[in-house]
Amino acid sequence: AKALGRGRHHFFDVSLREWVQRRLRMEQDLRDAVHDGQLWPAYQPVVDLRTGEMVAVEALMRWTHPRQGAISPAEFIPLAEESDLINVIGKEMLRATTRELAAWRARGLDLTLKVNLSTRQLDDPHLVTAVQDALAETGLPAAALCLEVTESALMRDQEAAAEVLASLRSLGVLLAIDDFGTGYSSLAQLRRLTLDTLKIDRSFITGIAESRDAEAIVTSIIAMAHAVDLTVIAEGVESAEQLELLRALGCDQAQGYHLGRPVPAAELFGQ
Ligand code: C2E
Ligand code: CA
Ligand code: CA
Ligand code: CA
Repeated sequence: AKALGRGRHHFFDVSLREWVQRRLRMEQDLRDAVHDGQLWPAYQPVVDLRTGEMVAVEALMRWTHPRQGAISPAEFIPLAEESDLINVIGKEMLRATTRELAAWRARGLDLTLKVNLSTRQLDDPHLVTAVQDALAETGLPAAALCLEVTESALMRDQEAAAEVLASLRSLGVLLAIDDFGTGYSSLAQLRRLTLDTLKIDRSFITGIAESRDAEAIVTSIIAMAHAVDLTVIAEGVESAEQLELLRALGCDQAQGYHLGRPVPAAELFGQ
């Protein structure tokens, strides 16, 4: 038994060391990636359900690693969040995407931009200035930019979040609560935050065409959001059935693979 215990301990040591090394390597690679232009924004269309037109794009960060190829943001964003890297990357993302949006609008495309903010960015004392600078440099109207913050990030430190959001709001940018339904926020808490948009998490959209329960939940989220004047976006729409149902339920906008996948800027307008 003792030998087995030692063996197990040894095995644990090795795999833990490998895991730590992999993460350290990836963090160093990510630092390099920022300087080498390996990070770039993909854009996913957001469609108005009344007109069927693309009204906005959501910027989703991509990392093309020189040896490993595409690495998912689900993997590298949490890593960036553990260091100050997320603030550097987040600001660069903001600068690059607002520039791109300004160029599209100059070509007559009537689009707005959605950019994701992580929890760590809400703690950054320079965030508001960075947003202000991005707007000033591009000459974009503030309302052309919508910042998305997840429900869990907002619920983590409500007082601090409310304060930062109020400062952002005073710039005139729009604010969205992302992944709604996965946290436990109440209507009262949402009202205090002066948000503009609510995005229903994909997990609720997945089942709406098959499950009465899922449909009932989505119906009540839409009613609740509309009662406090929020625009509702459904994310993760993958079928025509889901799209039709959401339209019938009065959902305002939608995004998902059925409407368009995230693509590089050059592919967005069928170039
Ligand atoms: P999110 O903000 O909830 O973004 C939606 C995710 O769902 C994206 O994954 C998108 O590619 C994916 N998606 C869109 N439509 C569909 C669909 O119909 N079906 C399915 N199965 N998935 C769909 P992605 O691009 O892998 O990003 C994952 C998460 O990483 C994002 O979730 C967001 O939380 C984070 N993220 C991405 N870019 C950034 C960024 O620039 N900054 C920060 N802070 N976070 C980012
Ligand atoms: Ca988002
Ligand atoms: Ca989301
Ligand atoms: Ca999500």
